[in-house]
Amino acid sequence: MALIVQKFGGSSVGTLDRIHHVASRIIETKQSGHHVVVVVSAMQGETDRLIRLAQTLTNEPHPREYDVLVSTGEQVSMALLAMALQAKSIPARSFTGHQIGIMTDETHTKARILNVKTETIQKTLNDGFVVIVAGFQGINKHGDITTLGRGGSDTTAVALAAALKADECQIYTDVEGVYTTDPHLLPEASLLPQISFEEMLEMSSLGAKVLQMRSVELASKHNLPIRVLSTFSKHPGTLVTFEDKIMQKRLVSGIAFSREESLIALSAVPNRAGIEGQILGKISDAQIEIDMIAQNASDQDKTDFTFTVQRKDFPKALKIVETLAAELGALSPKTNPKVAKLSLVGIGMRSHAGVASNMFRALGNANINIQMITTSEIKISVVIDEDSLERGVRAVHEAFGLDKLSVETHQDFMET
Ligand code: ASP
Ligand code: MG
Repeated sequence: MALIVQKFGGSSVGTLDRIHHVASRIIETKQSGHHVVVVVSAMQGETDRLIRLAQTLTNEPHPREYDVLVSTGEQVSMALLAMALQAKSIPARSFTGHQIGIMTDETHTKARILNVKTETIQKTLNDGFVVIVAGFQGINKHGDITTLGRGGSDTTAVALAAALKADECQIYTDVEGVYTTDPHLLPEASLLPQISFEEMLEMSSLGAKVLQMRSVELASKHNLPIRVLSTFSKHPGTLVTFEDKIMQKRLVSGIAFSREESLIALSAVPNRAGIEGQILGKISDAQIEIDMIAQNASDQDKTDFTFTVQRKDFPKALKIVETLAAELGALSPKTNPKVAKLSLVGIGMRSHAGVASNMFRALGNANINIQMITTSEIKISVVIDEDSLERGVRAVHEAFGLDKLSVETHQDFMET
């Protein structure tokens, strides 16, 4: 008898009809003779609604109370799902993170799971129940409720699957799996039958929202492949797995992007030791996260310094930099408040030259100006005007033939 962990996201449990549908899918798994542990998110929009409530009341909700509040969404959906299963004569029991013993550290609003107790789950499964666990929440050593950060139910599912040594961890969502890029932006995006942990990590960290980044980290640490698939179809979806298990080698696998970024460039800063720490230190002291950074020397004793921050932090960051520029005798900063980051990801880059130049050529042919570039072993990121994002994604997607993957890869999958 296999043990399968199935996680259903907010859109999958967004209405009572959908909850009924999810119940039917769980029953199919159960009736093929498997133990099923289900992790649920809050009903679609509910977590946002709760956060808005808190923010209407106060600008800085106390983190402990924030977690008490936002963790309630999952408690609603888990109980409704248990009732829907019971209405179909399937015994089911729902549990909060606290009841299971999902122990986390003390970082409210983005806690890390330290340990998961399995006794309650095992016993309830052995008694013949479907076990339903609230995603996104745990409890710290003081007995306080914690939450795991937005999208945290994915991480609950992976942590449970690892602790229970589950045979499969399935993440059900409202798209068919992991695509070469966001199909909402680019309808011609192709579904990937498989993707490596490493690529998925990059995609998640760069803004692809299919899986919480931490869930991917955790799965790769525990050697646990994850299947991402749709609640609303029978397609086998995407398997996130080890590089050496990938059947179809590709040069690049996907394009991630993030909007809502801003660029600040400082020029003619004194070129001396410690200047970078001085500038960036001031920014991070203000709790502003810096994303990309580039530096180059304009002449011997002056240097130029460019970086990006999230757009919500732009006014604050600019003020700091303006003050600094005056202090340092630098030129007044140049800015572009509306930029986006476009990143091409692929493990094939490690062994193939020319990926960057192809990417830059594609953007150049589309008449898109690149304002900043950073690279790592398996990724190339560029900053461009936000207005050109869609065209840029399309141009790069096409240049690497990512729009033509679908047909072959689907067949590929079927043969395996
Ligand atoms: N409900 C939480 C959120 O919206 C957690 C999750 O859905 O994974 O972020
Ligand atoms: Mg999610």
